[in-house]
Amino acid sequence: MALYTNESKERVRDAVDMVDLVSARVELKRAGANRMTGLCPFHDERTPSFGINPADKLYYCFGCQASGDAFTFVMETEGVDFKGAIELLADRYKVTLELEDEDPRAAEQRQRRERLLELLERTATYYARQLWESAQAAKAREYLTGRGLQEATLREFRVGYAPSAWDTVISASRRAGFGNRELYDAGLAQRSQSNGRIYDRFRSQIIFPLADARGRVRGFAGRTMGDGSDRRPKYINSPESDLFHKGRQLFAADLARAPAAKAQHVIAAEGYTDVIAMHQVGVRNTVGIMGTALTEDQIGELARLAPEVKLALDADSAGQDAMLRAARIALGRKPPLRIRVVPLPPGEDPADLVQRAGADEIKRRVSDSVPFVRFRVLRALDTGNLAEAEGRDRVSHELSSVFALLAPSAEREELRRIAADRLDLSSDLLERVLTGGSHGIGQGGGGSPPPRSQRVDARGDAGAGVNAEPSMIGRRDPTERSFLALCVGLPELGGPALAELDPEADLTSDVARRAVAYLRVHLRAPTAGLDELVDDELAALIRELVVRATAMTSASPSDFEIERLQLALARVGREITAARSHGEPIGALAARRTELSARLDRLMEQV
Ligand code: ZN
Repeated sequence: MALYTNESKERVRDAVDMVDLVSARVELKRAGANRMTGLCPFHDERTPSFGINPADKLYYCFGCQASGDAFTFVMETEGVDFKGAIELLADRYKVTLELEDEDPRAAEQRQRRERLLELLERTATYYARQLWESAQAAKAREYLTGRGLQEATLREFRVGYAPSAWDTVISASRRAGFGNRELYDAGLAQRSQSNGRIYDRFRSQIIFPLADARGRVRGFAGRTMGDGSDRRPKYINSPESDLFHKGRQLFAADLARAPAAKAQHVIAAEGYTDVIAMHQVGVRNTVGIMGTALTEDQIGELARLAPEVKLALDADSAGQDAMLRAARIALGRKPPLRIRVVPLPPGEDPADLVQRAGADEIKRRVSDSVPFVRFRVLRALDTGNLAEAEGRDRVSHELSSVFALLAPSAEREELRRIAADRLDLSSDLLERVLTGGSHGIGQGGGGSPPPRSQRVDARGDAGAGVNAEPSMIGRRDPTERSFLALCVGLPELGGPALAELDPEADLTSDVARRAVAYLRVHLRAPTAGLDELVDDELAALIRELVVRATAMTSASPSDFEIERLQLALARVGREITAARSHGEPIGALAARRTELSARLDRLMEQV
């Protein structure tokens, strides 16, 4: 959606004073000729790991991997979209923006979309006013406050009320100049089957606006006010459209975004009132998944918010299988999205718990969360009938689908011991039951994992509960990252070195290999047009390398050679491990390792 010309964008970029811009949020200290550091605005920390490169106008955090340029910095810290960010920066650094000449069709589509968003925005405001001002909404207010929700919180979430009449939204929107087609496309009106007339989609309902991550209202969820019977409340959503996809939607993602980035985890609850109750007591990194069955798209949205999700769902809900399926998707992602479970008392949802036991209780349970797989194993053992052989067989079978999520690890071993003990099976027999026909994910689909010296994560039970291969370079091997950064810092040496590199053999992660392919072409200006050329993961790595490179400008050719030797040593180490596991001779490899080490030692002495 081109709005402002690329030239405008570049003029804004040129005009930005990165130190001035970032200093408004972060106290910066000089840390080298072209590098300044401070405490990261995107996660909690005590020692600075957030760095900027004032000349290239980039930032990168070694703690949380946040990275970007002046535009993303403003988007993240001010919670605005790209258009908002460019306007804000243009205003601040006195640049006049020019609109692009769009082709008429695209312009028309953009205007149509903006009209619909405006209509949704107006309607959200209208519903919210109804909740607080209309006599009709008394029962709705009573229900909400009865759940312990305060007016200020409900106003922040823009909770509203749709009156009972057939055409309040339609009439008000028409008066504001919107047509039937627009009302229909925005999902606010529907057509009667019998007489063909259109009427309001939402009537006599509590309304929860569903905004995207930037806070723009895309649709609504309407909760019917019960008729006094015990039936579950009925929810009606906006229909699927260009603007609204329920399966992609997370409730309150806009409000939870910054707190989730800072906390490095996001809490997922089922109901709207659960989410609002959590925010009210200060657990602001909570979003709603609007049902128990997480979709793949929602999991992608969750991963965008934080690297770890804590599920605060009713343990007894029928969604257990859906949760297992979701966990499989989440753990199969690269990098895997870690999933933990917040233990809740049976039959209580987070809103109940906050109301009954208070803020401290829910916070305690959030911090007591357990890795998803551990939760599932313990729950199967706790709820199964272990007194009889048949019950034990059923539980072992159930466990096999859970253990399939676990790569070999200390966590897996511990859970297997617990399970063998409780099921009264020998460890070997249980292992055979568990592996019968299924295999772990994150192992390239093979039966036994490839030999790797560091396969078992050194962090032990650091919480993930799963040891899928980390795909981000540097988590496991800082050598590769340092080497690539040095190539960027010393391009005269880096260019030829990159050309000689054998990415498959010399590097261990896919993103690093893609970085090599990219840098072979773009070494002199790695960040020019970066976002248009590569995906987010690679862009983040390139930015990291550029920022690190600025700290390396005083490096010498000897330093470069040292990094190169270390990379070669790491490779030969891997080759030796692989040869050993295949029972092949390692003589030549070992000789090469000795030779490389000797060269490295000599160089280190000189430096
Ligand atoms: Zn950070």
